[in-house]
Amino acid sequence: CGIIGIVSENQVADRLVDGLRRMEYRGYDSAGVCTIDNGQLVRRRAQGKLNNLVEELAGNPAPGTIGIAHTRWATHGAPTTHNAHPHATGEVALVHNGIIENFKQLRDDLIAKGRSLESDTDTEAVAHLVSEEIEGGASPEDAVKAVLPKLRGAFALAIAFRQNPDLLIGARLGSPLVVGYGEGEMFLGSDALALAPLTQKIAYLEEGDWVVITKGEARIFDSENNSVEREITTSGASA
Ligand code: GLU
Repeated sequence: CGIIGIVSENQVADRLVDGLRRMEYRGYDSAGVCTIDNGQLVRRRAQGKLNNLVEELAGNPAPGTIGIAHTRWATHGAPTTHNAHPHATGEVALVHNGIIENFKQLRDDLIAKGRSLESDTDTEAVAHLVSEEIEGGASPEDAVKAVLPKLRGAFALAIAFRQNPDLLIGARLGSPLVVGYGEGEMFLGSDALALAPLTQKIAYLEEGDWVVITKGEARIFDSENNSVEREITTSGASA
């Protein structure tokens, strides 16, 4: 299972799939990508091998210069296309590795508020929680700040926001996530290996960190939302 995200000036879909391929060794049962194009979230998902996603993309491309992608190792919900990540609402798309332990309560609360969830995953509740904040007028940063303290369990997350095609937010607790620094583009990945063809400059997020990446920079925060610096290593794919 793995996560990759790219904010760039160039098209991202092929490079997202390449990144997923480099994480195939981790094992997975389904895969998906979401880009933002012309103010819309463009989501493509497929059960089974990455080639199924590649075929899906051949018929239904995902244009865009920003996007997130995921290989899933199902823990909650069968390995089907409708349970594959990214999970999305009209406003946000989100990929997750790990387990949200309190998902049942979160789901029940969302459903009680009239929201309809379409998958059987623990993850989708997180997409809806972030979306609720955005729909209420919060900025992406404030939405993530509001939601992270509600999550129990282990996660690496990457989130795309329909109205903000210039940034992605990543977060980690108990599952790995790294930031990759490119030339005029920035990356998120589960490990340095996934990003190796894209950049050798990597910062490892620490437990509880979250990060806002744009084409030009990464702003990293700790679990108490203090702005923090994490060392940028250039050792390449040693992780
Ligand atoms: N728990 C999530 C799911 O089953 C994420 C699994 C993963 O780490 O890929 O959908």
